[in-house]
Amino acid sequence: MMLDAPRTQDLAGWGRTVHRTTQVRRPTFDTALVEAVLAEPKITVRGAGRSYGDAALPGAGIVLDMTCRDRIVSFDEGTGVLVVEAGALLKDVIDLTLPSGWKLPVVPGTERVTVGGAIASDVHGKNHPGAGSFGQHVHWLALLRSDAAIVQLSAGLDADAFWATVGGMGLTGVILRAALQLERVDTGWVIRNRRRTRSLDETLEAMRAISVRQELDPDRHAIAWLDGHAHGRTLGRGIVDEFYGASTLDLPTAVPPFPETRITGTRRRRSLPGPGIVSRATIAAASTARWHAGRSMNSQVLPLRTALSPLDRVEAWPAAFGRRGLVQYQFAVPPEGSGVLREVLVYLGTHGMTPALTTLKNLGFGTAGPLSFSIPGWTLAVDLPARWLHRLDALRPLDKLVASAGGRVYLAKDSVTDPELVPRMYPRIWSWQHTQQRLDPIGRWTSGLAERLGLLP
Ligand SMILES: Cc1cc2nc3c(=O)[nH]c(=O)nc-3n(C[C@H](O)[C@H](O)[C@H](O)COP(=O)(O)OP(=O)(O)OC[C@H]3O[C@@H](n4cnc5c(N)ncnc54)[C@H](O)[C@@H]3O)c2cc1C
Repeated sequence: MMLDAPRTQDLAGWGRTVHRTTQVRRPTFDTALVEAVLAEPKITVRGAGRSYGDAALPGAGIVLDMTCRDRIVSFDEGTGVLVVEAGALLKDVIDLTLPSGWKLPVVPGTERVTVGGAIASDVHGKNHPGAGSFGQHVHWLALLRSDAAIVQLSAGLDADAFWATVGGMGLTGVILRAALQLERVDTGWVIRNRRRTRSLDETLEAMRAISVRQELDPDRHAIAWLDGHAHGRTLGRGIVDEFYGASTLDLPTAVPPFPETRITGTRRRRSLPGPGIVSRATIAAASTARWHAGRSMNSQVLPLRTALSPLDRVEAWPAAFGRRGLVQYQFAVPPEGSGVLREVLVYLGTHGMTPALTTLKNLGFGTAGPLSFSIPGWTLAVDLPARWLHRLDALRPLDKLVASAGGRVYLAKDSVTDPELVPRMYPRIWSWQHTQQRLDPIGRWTSGLAERLGLLP
């Protein structure tokens, strides 16, 4: 029981812009967890803390850290159904299942997130047009409600509560366990085709062509890196990567079908030159150099995990932005809103906010989750040094643009959005609030994000 006592800890979001000194509880057993929940009037649930802003930081009350509840409960190698505790990392799931030919159908840009965090943010991968979001591969989840009841939810069993929890940012209860449907793969390798583009039009055209193929193949991934420093006629030029699963026939004979690609310890991680290295000059130099070095080429074979989660090799990324950290501004707009992408890039360039990293992905069909991020269209993410956003409202004009185009910002990454625009961006928030209130009538669940954006009823 001693282990379950609250401890004072300094916590931050992954972008390091928001910090809180708070009481943290890590209850290992269900009984201790229930006791903790009943004892605390205000609770914020936290996974691996990889959301960029304040989604897993408290406004009021304590934090419930779920990372100690990380057991793989069962894995059926015949059906690919995995039952796992919500605090397990995707990395641990992949370590266990990939060598036997099963993969998670949806992996975000890092494997170092928990299953609970992936469900609560309904994360998307680079294969969204074919595979949808993480929540669409959850058979059921066990939810601890604020009255201490544990209920099993699925799309067929209290669908409203299930879809309010998928993408519900930890505000409907504690996800304890989930059953996930994995997908068969022939190998742990992918084939990458790369194309370098010279303008935003060319980049969009390349991504559109890939999205048609993605819709037919859930295992086809695509991402465009944009040269954030390019402007004028070259604005939006970049490197478009398309990946698809390699079969054993695609591999040279000496290559094993499942590579040992675990990213363990720090040995294999690339280090960055030093803390605070990101500046206007280094961004300009690095972006230009990357574009020039990125030659178009077909049929390069890569380990699947390296292709899907490249940022796991640069753990020090936030430190490179200095003491004040980084803001990632990610939004989605419908297919016809592609003009917004150009306007955003122009706005950032003309306001001296050239992003250190700019990525564009295709999104496919949406989900039933009223707070889920993904809508069909495009999603653009830009990494900006927080020290450049002198005024809190520096990105407000972009919020307006995005909302007017029928788009939305990604709550899991947010630290700056205009709260007034949230109901326009998430028009089904009222039905989500109705279900949230049914699940948590006493208002126990909270978070910095929920309080800042007024998400709760
Ligand atoms: C380098 C990097 C790349 C990324 N790439 C992508 C990407 O490609 N696509 C994408 O969609 N996202 C991406 N993300 C965002 C990330 O996937 C999400 O923020 C994810 O939710 C983080 O999971 P976590 O376990 O760290 O959760 P935390 O950050 O700790 O929490 C996130 C939310 O989940 C809730 N939560 C956590 N655990 C539970 C639980 N057991 N029960 C109920 N609620 C819970 C929290 O309350 C919080 O609201 C990326 C993040 C990083 C750092």
